[in-house]
Order: sequence, then structure tokens, then C-alpha cells
Amino acid sequence: MKNSFDHPMPNADGYFGEFGGSFIPPELEVIMKEINAAYQTCRQDPAFLEELARLYKHFVGRPSPIFHAENLSKKYGVDIFLKREDLNHTGAHKINHCLGEALLAKKMGKKKLIAETGAGQHGVALATAAALVGLECDIYMGEVDIAKEHPNVVRMRILGANVIPATHGRKTLKEAVDAAFEAYLKDPITQIYAIGSVVGPHPFPMMVRDFQSIIGNEARVQIQEMTGRLPDHLVACVGGGSNAMGLFTAFLDDDGVEIHGVEPAGRSLQEVGEHAATLTLGRPGVMHGFKSYMLQDDLGEPQEVYSVASGLDYPSVGPQHSFLKDAGRVQYGTADDKAAIDAFFELSRLEGIIPAIESSHAVAYAFQLAQQGKRGSILINLSGRGDKDIDFVVEKYGKDYGIESLV
Ligand SMILES: *Cc1c(COP(=O)(O)O)cnc(C)c1O
Repeated sequence: MKNSFDHPMPNADGYFGEFGGSFIPPELEVIMKEINAAYQTCRQDPAFLEELARLYKHFVGRPSPIFHAENLSKKYGVDIFLKREDLNHTGAHKINHCLGEALLAKKMGKKKLIAETGAGQHGVALATAAALVGLECDIYMGEVDIAKEHPNVVRMRILGANVIPATHGRKTLKEAVDAAFEAYLKDPITQIYAIGSVVGPHPFPMMVRDFQSIIGNEARVQIQEMTGRLPDHLVACVGGGSNAMGLFTAFLDDDGVEIHGVEPAGRSLQEVGEHAATLTLGRPGVMHGFKSYMLQDDLGEPQEVYSVASGLDYPSVGPQHSFLKDAGRVQYGTADDKAAIDAFFELSRLEGIIPAIESSHAVAYAFQLAQQGKRGSILINLSGRGDKDIDFVVEKYGKDYGIESLV
């Protein structure tokens, strides 16, 4: 097996082709160089890698299994496989990079982890890693998401983290990033900004991808053990793009494997502010310290975005995805709110697995591929579980799926 931390991209300045890089104030540039240097040391340090591997196995519960979803396979006429990141401790893939970031921060002598969170999954995963490793933790979260994802807010506080509301703009993920960035600028020495996806300035898109690439490295071996061959299709949802890069990376050189990234079409692709289909409808631009496809207005300001999935409503995307789109190696498509909620119930009722609404976008897209006549096998990254979403889904959509109000 290839060394999971051995990738040709990005270049030394953090570029994936024309995308990525580091567009930040000089005082942060110094800090990013330090983080990169510390990471380069850690990625070659057997003690660091052993500690991470130990935590993946005994704390997270890795390897996560692959499940052959036979009922869905029968219904759609393709073999559907699920990489079960929903079974990880804390319920999603994010713990994979949070543990890496927390161990790195500890090595660097930092006192506090700070981060933004959308659905609360990154916040919970980071608060968990902070508790385990012994660091303080401040989590910035949009006020709208705090209301929508209340159970995760409670979890973070139980774990000892501070949850700090972002109260401007749409009060969701982008504003949370703004607030966390501002706090980081005030003190980049004792704290470290543990970015929650493959976004932000170099080295974060590379580092988070490397920590997440365990997903694809495991899956590539597992699926061959199960079926004797590689999958015909990979499907993963794309918010910032970390679970997708985590799965895709191990398969990028396998020409026979078609790779699909799924963006949220929300309520409408026709209206600004009603979707977050960055690669589908955006154009290259710079925000949050890196260059990538971006949903922007004529002045280059980020547009408002929306998705029923809090973890997917981000107006930019990881720079490697922009590169892979332009290179034609990955196809990017969309699933809208309704398709995602349908898939949420279908997976729950046909397979007994309640998925996160984010992951439901990938499931919905796999169904679309099957309906378009794709055959063979589809490996879906089930990035997280739906426990965090059940109250919201039942309140907003329950009636349409035969669930009367529970109160
Ligand atoms: C955060 C999250 C996502 C979106 O983030 P990516 O960086 O695009 O992976 C997807 N699924 C779940 C379950 C999440 O919590």
C-alpha cells in the first residue's frame, strides 16, 4: 500500500495547479510556515504516526467497515457499497483530521484549539480531540446553526469547549469562519486554528487531506477483499471537500474508477443564495486565504449560500477539488434538498441506517447515477450519521414521510 502521506500535490507553495496557495496577512504567513514545518516533521516521525494510528484504532474504532447495501442494490440495479464513516466515534469523518490537528498542536506547544463549525460536527470532533489530548477549545458557530444543531452544542459544552456565536450575515458556516479567523489574528501564538475541511491557506488543504486519506486507503483494500476488484464509481458529498478527498485520494491513479463529487443544489440552482453548488456554478476567486472556485458577486465578494445540510453551505471549496474538476479527473454534480431528504428516509427504511443529511446528498446522487443507467458497483462515502438531524428532519419533513408531529 502507498504511504498515505505520500502525495505529489500540492507544490511547495501549496498550489494544486493554479488553485490553493496562501493569501493571508504577513503575521499569519509566519505562523503558517511554522505549522507547515512542524507538520513536515510529524509526517515523517514514526512516533507521531504510531500515536495517530493507535488513536484511529482504539479511540475512533477504525477501520470503519464497508457495507454492501443489498436492498438498495436490488432496487436500483447496481451494487451499492457504503464506507461507514458514520460509525466513527463522534459520528462522522471529521474526527480523523481533528485528532491529527490536535496531536500536531500539542507537539507545537499550543494551549488552545479554535475552529468554526457548521453542523456542529467539526466542533464536536475537535472538542473531543481537545479533551483527549489536553488542550483548551473555542468553537465559533453561526447563531442559526446553534439553534438547528442544538444537541451538538450541548455535546461541545459537556466536553469542556466554549461555544461562541457568530451573529452577523446569514449566521451560518461562512460567518463562523469569519469570526474564528478574526479571533485567530488576535492571538496566533498560544492558539491554533484547526480548520475543519480541506480549505484555508497552505498547509491546511494538504494536511487535512492527508489525515483524511485513511478513508480511501482502507476502502481500497476492503472493497477488493469483498469483490475482488476496484469499484466502478466513487461518490462523496462536497462541502469544503474533506470526506471526498479522504475517499478519492487513494483512487486518483486508478483510471477505471469514475469519481463523483456531489454539491448541494438546495432549493434552487437558478437563484443566488438558494444553493451552495460552488464547483458547478462558481468561478475562481480568493477567500479565507486560498484560491479556488467560489460563488461570488461581481465585486468578488462571497455570495450567500444555502443547503438543508449545515455542513455543506460554504461558498468556496477545497482547492484540490478545483484542480480535479479542471483536470477532468472528478465529475462534480448536484443533489437538491428534496432528493437528499428522500435518500435520508430511503437509506433509513431499506437498510436501517440513518445518515447525516450531508451524506444523504451522496446517497441521492448514487441513486441518480443508477437511474441514468450507470452499472457495476458504486462506493458511497457515508460521511456521518443522522442522529444530529432527526429532530429537524421530523419537524420539517416528517409529515411527507408518514410521521405525525411527535408533540
Ligand atoms: C462536515 C460534514 C460534511 C462536509 O464537509 P466536507 O469537508 O465536505 O467533508 C459532510 N458530511 C458530514 C457528516 C459532515 O459532518
